[in-house]
Amino acid sequence: MNFHILTLFPEMVMDGLNTSITGRAVANGLLSIEALNIRDYAFNKHHSVDDYPYGGGAGMLMQAEPVYQAYEAVAKKINKKPRVVYLSPQGQTFTQKMAEEFAKEDELVLLCGHYEGIDERVLEEIVTDYISIGDYVLTGGELPAMVLVDAISRLVPGVLHNDVSAEFESFQDNLLEYPQYSRPENWHGKKVPEVLMSGHHANIEKWRREQSVIRTKQRRPDLLEKCKLTDAEKQLIEKIQKNT
Ligand code: SAM
Repeated sequence: MNFHILTLFPEMVMDGLNTSITGRAVANGLLSIEALNIRDYAFNKHHSVDDYPYGGGAGMLMQAEPVYQAYEAVAKKINKKPRVVYLSPQGQTFTQKMAEEFAKEDELVLLCGHYEGIDERVLEEIVTDYISIGDYVLTGGELPAMVLVDAISRLVPGVLHNDVSAEFESFQDNLLEYPQYSRPENWHGKKVPEVLMSGHHANIEKWRREQSVIRTKQRRPDLLEKCKLTDAEKQLIEKIQKNT
């Protein structure tokens, strides 16, 4: 999968993404991540990319043409009109389900705004998806773009050493992941639940599923409403409710 990030701060995204798992995946040829500096596509001699908004108001706006030229450079290179995500607080909130869907793309363009955002006309012309990482306003789209690349990359086959580790994670089936433990068996007087050391796989699976249901009920009850529960699990929820 190839990510193309259109940004005014390429070094910011590349420094972050060239490390750890995404960095290794790039080195292994499973992903490619390129950051295009929108400033390189500015048409004036000072390479400025921002201007005052018509109608007045605070702040500056990124101009349409440099963004469009940067997009055109990617489209020309890959010889097709790619899906273009504009990172924006006005977009739909990013979810694991969206990450799964984006992971099916071969090419993905991520457009990072700065200042007060980007001239609406170029957005209308090139953007296919508006995505937010949450209901707060950041100074730029670089951190959100990195969030998307990270979440999507780990779903690309081969990026995680053990592909099953992406299969049983939080948000799968609208449940949060169960608690996990590693050595030592006893830490600060807290013991690892016995069932996990029993070697009895069916019991371990049952315990983990129950823990997922309990944890989701406690921490993200909104998710449980979308989750398919067995009758026994529904009873478990009722029991928790009675005890709280
Ligand atoms: N004036 C804009 C508004 O009110 O919608 C906010 C602009 S913000 C200061 C600058 C840039 O940061 C945006 O163009 C966008 O790319 C990015 N950004 C800020 N918050 C974001 C969020 N929650 N999710 C995704 N991108 C965000």
